This record gives sequence, C-alpha cells and structure tokens, in this order.
Amino acid sequence: TLNRAYNFNAGPSALPLPVLQLAQEELVNFKNTGMSVMELSHRSKEFEDVLTHAKETLTELLNIPDTHEILFLQGGASLQFSMIPMNFLAPDQVGAYVLTGSWSEKALKEAKKLGKTAVVASTKEENYRSIPALDDVKLPKEEIGYLHITSNNTIFGTQWADYPSIEGVDLIADMSSDILCRQIDVSKFSLIYAGAQKNLGPSGVTVVILKKELLKRIPEGLPTMLNYETHVKSNSLYNTPPTFGIYMLSLVLDWIKEQGGVKAIEAQNHKKAKLLYTSMERSNGFYTPHATEESRSIMNVTFTLPTDELTTAFLQQAKEKGFVGLAGHRSIGGCRASIYNAVPLEACEALAVFMDEFAQANV
Ligand code: PMP
Repeated sequence: TLNRAYNFNAGPSALPLPVLQLAQEELVNFKNTGMSVMELSHRSKEFEDVLTHAKETLTELLNIPDTHEILFLQGGASLQFSMIPMNFLAPDQVGAYVLTGSWSEKALKEAKKLGKTAVVASTKEENYRSIPALDDVKLPKEEIGYLHITSNNTIFGTQWADYPSIEGVDLIADMSSDILCRQIDVSKFSLIYAGAQKNLGPSGVTVVILKKELLKRIPEGLPTMLNYETHVKSNSLYNTPPTFGIYMLSLVLDWIKEQGGVKAIEAQNHKKAKLLYTSMERSNGFYTPHATEESRSIMNVTFTLPTDELTTAFLQQAKEKGFVGLAGHRSIGGCRASIYNAVPLEACEALAVFMDEFAQANV
C-alpha cells in the first residue's frame, strides 16, 4: 500500500495523490525532453507551455477577467506584505487594514514601516473568534491607498463569508489559505495573493492576481524585483522562476478542473467541514469550536478540549491512528484540522469518527 497519512497539516499540506503520482511518472523524462521539468531551461518552449497552461487554467477556474494579470512570484505571501505598500501606498495615502488574526497583523506591521496605515476594524479583543461585520469596516476620511483583508485566518480558523466592497477603494486580499476553496468574483479585488503551499501546490511560489490598472500607481525607483511591473512585463520570467513549483501548481489546477472545478470543490469543502463541526456539536460541549458560527472557516477547523491533559491525550491517540497535523498553532494551542482542497472526504469522515469516539470515552 502507499501508506498515506491522514494529513491535516496547516501548510505545507496535503497535495492530491493523483498529482503526486503524475509528477512521479513524469519526473525523469518530462514529455520526451529526456529530462525533468527541474532540468529544463525556464526559457524553453516546454517550460513556457507549462507556465501558459497554469495561467490559462487558473483564469478558467477563477473566471479571471482580462482586466487582471496573473503573476508567479517568490518570497512567499510574506513578501507581499511589503510589496503591496511599496507599490500602492503613496505618501499622501493611508493603507487600511482589517485585523482578523496574526497574518493580518504581520501584513500591517510591514506596511507601517513603509507608509501611513489605519486599522479600520479588528476582532483582536475577542481573540479573533470572528470576522467583523461588514458595517463595522469604517474608513478614515483621508485618501485610502487600499483596503487589506485576510480572507481566511489559518491560525484562528475564521473566514470572511462576504467581502467588504467600498466604492472607489481598491480591495486587496491575502487568500493564502483559501484560494480556490470556493467561487469568488475576482473583479471585486484589485489584488489577490496566496502562497502556494496550501491549496495550490508546493511552497516556493506565490500567486498574485493583479488588476492591471493598479500598475499606474507604482512609484519610480523601486528595486526591480520588488516592482510588480517587472513581473507583468516579463510574464513572470524576469529572473529564474520556481519552475518545479509552477509545474506542480499547474497539475493541481488540472486536478481541480477534473473534480468539476471550483464549484464542485466548494460543495465538497462544505461537506468536509460540516463533518467536523457536526461532531463538535454532537459532543455536548466536549469540543468547543474557537470560531463563532457565522465566521467559521471551511479550511481550518479550530477547537479546544476541556483540559490540557485531554488535549494531549487526544493528539497522542490521533497520532497513533495516523492523523497528522492536528495540534493548534503554537500561538493559540488547542487543536486544528486543516482541510484544504486536497484533503479527501474520507480523511474528514475518519477524523469525525475518531472525535466522536474520543469524546464518548472521555466525558
Ligand atoms: N498569510 C496567511 C493567511 C498564511 O496562512 C500564511 C502562512 N501560513 C502566510 C500569509 C505566510 O505565508 P508564507 O509562508 O508563504 O510567507
């Protein structure tokens, strides 16, 4: 047997098995080139086809309009925290940030070093259990550079149900932990970014979907690699891109298409999340979800048990049964099951059964 674990890691995380198998098959001789994708020139026709295919498939899956450009960058989502204010926050503008967790805090921290910022809504006071109501996002009077949100909060397990939409304000979203988990209207966003290592592929690639109009706002004098225009002009081939990562990403996108596209994936994700949230509800308070019901994530399911001893026992027994990655993030503790697109329904079914049994045995 393949001995694949029930992988609930938060990222890097599970990849679809058929994708790994196809990559394995193609590894030493990619499409009769006599070499692996890793050994091809990034300027070769073969690699260009991979990149074009990845862009076309992503465009199709997310219905990305012509107004937007797709980039494959490096530096993780974390470098976007800096590139966004460098490129789109002019000295007379304010970068507006909604704080919904540690990653939004980190995005804000970088922007503060580069320009004026404002926190326009935050749920920090309640330990990031929820997402602010759309009406609570109130912009200051000054000119706004952009409004930044984190669409899914990987650590706290919350997710925006509806996105804020404010006339004349560019919306920027960190979708690292939920891109392609559900259908979205890309035209509402001026910039979407996501580190690949959750729903898109291996770590090392960052996808940026950028409204071309924004390019006009880039100031003179930025370092070449940190200027979005560089990457738009060169089709993400200004320097050597992470070629193997882009190839893997293209296979993951093909896999999503084979599953029936984002709509089908979204339905499957709701089913998976429901299994776990329902098990918690059945437990009569043994498991407490961290997130409020309206703000629950369908990607990261966070919960606590009645005591630290029970949490330790839960994680230990889970490990023995082959469930990997269930410990909560070190900053908040408790438990977290990350159930990204590639985590199969069966893994969630098995975890729900284990959760039921553990609760019954320990009440
Ligand atoms: N944003 C979110 C929402 C994340 O979950 C993460 C990583 N877990 C990051 C940003 C940072 O991503 P990277 O490690 O690619 O810089």
